Amino acid sequence: MRQITSLVILLLATIALQAQTDKEKVLATVNVNTIKGHIYFLADDALKGRETGTPENKIAAAYLANTLRSYGVKPNPKTGDYYQEATLQVRYRDGEEVKTKTVKSQNVIGIVEGTDPKLKDEYIIYSAHYDHVGVHKSNNPNDSIFNGARDNAVGTTTVLSMAENLAKYPTKRSALFILFTGEEKGLLGSKYYVENPVLPLNQMVYCFNSDNAGYNDTSLATIIGLPRTTAEKNIKESVAAFGLKAVEDPSPEQGLFDRSDNVSFAAKGIPAPTFSLGFDSFAGDVTKYYHQPGDEANTLDYDYLLKFFQAYVLSGRSIANDSKTPFWTAGDKYEASGKALYKN
Ligand SMILES: [Zn+2]
Repeated sequence: MRQITSLVILLLATIALQAQTDKEKVLATVNVNTIKGHIYFLADDALKGRETGTPENKIAAAYLANTLRSYGVKPNPKTGDYYQEATLQVRYRDGEEVKTKTVKSQNVIGIVEGTDPKLKDEYIIYSAHYDHVGVHKSNNPNDSIFNGARDNAVGTTTVLSMAENLAKYPTKRSALFILFTGEEKGLLGSKYYVENPVLPLNQMVYCFNSDNAGYNDTSLATIIGLPRTTAEKNIKESVAAFGLKAVEDPSPEQGLFDRSDNVSFAAKGIPAPTFSLGFDSFAGDVTKYYHQPGDEANTLDYDYLLKFFQAYVLSGRSIANDSKTPFWTAGDKYEASGKALYKN
């Protein structure tokens, strides 16, 4: 009798574990204290604005690599560590002058394999840039450090949140995490990556990028390129599950789709929107903090951010578990490149 009871308990426990929904899996890993830890570290004055090529940019990369390591994410398969080193030509300010020089910097890369024997050959890329614009003169006489909490410690934290979740609860499709350097110098890290991919680009079926200027509406997540891929429904439903509304870019005049790392992947044919903090126009609190020394960790609304990160992680899970492979919406500018890349 006792044996039968134990067996029944074990069976019920197994069923309960399997019945855990994707939303429950998100709630189990994404929490406000972890989020704060990432953002407060990356946006600390000690990191001096994470400018590409500086020692502080490398410290940020080491933090990201070691966070991936602590989650049990696998390293870059090409190098066996979490880095992809690149020699880059960058412009930097020297007083009033703009000079060019050659620097060494690095993308940070990790992998979680999928669980489905067939779909695991397809990868979703989760990406964001971690560099920012460094230290220079500003409108504020008392502050010259551009901390880049919104831009893009927040985007970096979306990718870390995804990595923590997938390391614990992998999806059917595999995951490639890439944290780019050099975005603020002209998308240099993502351009370097697509010319030097660590896995074949035609196995990358989606790039779910996150980049942020700021937010002025905490009821929204603004997705640059939302209607341009067939994953629109996955994203809208997942965002709604955490009480936010997913909306398309309200300010096409800013050309945001073509101004962040997602475009490096889109140009190769990979469907690639950018998930951003909510804004209904490129104005108000967006422009107040965008590329300003005031973009600091203690000016963020963490109740809102928690929902924002949960919405991103659930969206990623939904896309990565969907039996249907995402693609460009018919007629999109990049549809032909996509057909050429995937030969369909
Ligand atoms: Zn940015």
